[in-house]
Amino acid sequence: MVQMPRLRGRLIANQPLAELTWFRVGGPAQVLFMPEDEPDLSYFLMHLPPEIPVTVIGLGSNLIVRDGGVPGVAVRLGRGFGDITAEEGSRIRAGAAVPDVKVARAAQEAAVAGLSFLRGIPGAIGGALRMNGGAYGGETKDVLVTARGVDRGGRIRTFTKADMQYTYRHCGAPEDVIFTEALFQGMSGDPAAIAAAMDKITESREATQPIKSRTGGSTFKNPPGHKAWQLIDAAGCRGLTVGAAQVSVLHCNFLINQGGASAVDIESLGETVRARVRETSGVDLEWEIKRIGVDRS
Ligand SMILES: Cc1cc2nc3c(=O)[nH]c(=O)nc-3n(C[C@H](O)[C@H](O)[C@H](O)COP(=O)(O)OP(=O)(O)OC[C@H]3O[C@@H](n4cnc5c(N)ncnc54)[C@H](O)[C@@H]3O)c2cc1C
Repeated sequence: MVQMPRLRGRLIANQPLAELTWFRVGGPAQVLFMPEDEPDLSYFLMHLPPEIPVTVIGLGSNLIVRDGGVPGVAVRLGRGFGDITAEEGSRIRAGAAVPDVKVARAAQEAAVAGLSFLRGIPGAIGGALRMNGGAYGGETKDVLVTARGVDRGGRIRTFTKADMQYTYRHCGAPEDVIFTEALFQGMSGDPAAIAAAMDKITESREATQPIKSRTGGSTFKNPPGHKAWQLIDAAGCRGLTVGAAQVSVLHCNFLINQGGASAVDIESLGETVRARVRETSGVDLEWEIKRIGVDRS
């Protein structure tokens, strides 16, 4: 029997995950763990039998949770990972549970330029680190100094930007690492100018993306030399539906749960789009959205 007498975080059995994601689909986590802080996460992972799978979720803005749920433990970071501080030399330190938008705002208030691209990404810092989140010409890799994380064995590790082996929407740091904190480097700027840049990002998003829908953002990565949305449009997929899942009419690289879609509807719609794009243009689209868990048996 596993005993963890010094565990301080919360464990919940059969926690529905749909409500923790933007798409609002999918089954439960066998167990959801919300660690109190980094030492608590480390203690838990150190004592959890290695055969039990662990999956980390952030704000669920880039996730499809499959209908059969997530076996093993899903980890979600909360308040103990929510600190944010401005440091000497135009640096911002943020816990992995801090929403990207808050980091953008804290940087603006501290007269730190270079982080305003985070304004438009609706995830938290852990997701930005794992996805190399980016928008409007900025990417996480451009501003990262170091990231901290805990591996599956409970070891606390620090990663330099080079260790993260970043490419477009991809991080090469070991898959088992749960990031806990990031240190970002910006540059000295004018708070009013930074605020204006952030407002522009907000306006542009509202005009071009279905940001009030149940979606996962860009579904597929832009293949080299192409825009995914153009290939999808050329394949005649704008507005296509499977069940209650639809290819957004506003931005056809976004899939939408119109209400009552299942994860399998959304994933099948994505696979249909991939097949049609392959037929019409010969390009193999790669999923940007992460799909976790198992299908309903
Ligand atoms: C309307 C909309 C617009 C979007 N626009 C953009 C955009 O402009 N640019 C962009 O890059 N993305 C965009 N996205 C996608 C998404 O917001 C980003 O990928 C974001 O970084 C995901 O963060 P999250 O906290 O929601 O992570 P989740 O969706 O919960 O998880 C995404 C991945 O990160 C991993 N992960 C999460 N937290 C951690 C952690 N602490 N340690 C290790 N791994 C972790 C998860 O296991 C999963 O593999 C958009 C999404 C939506 C819904």
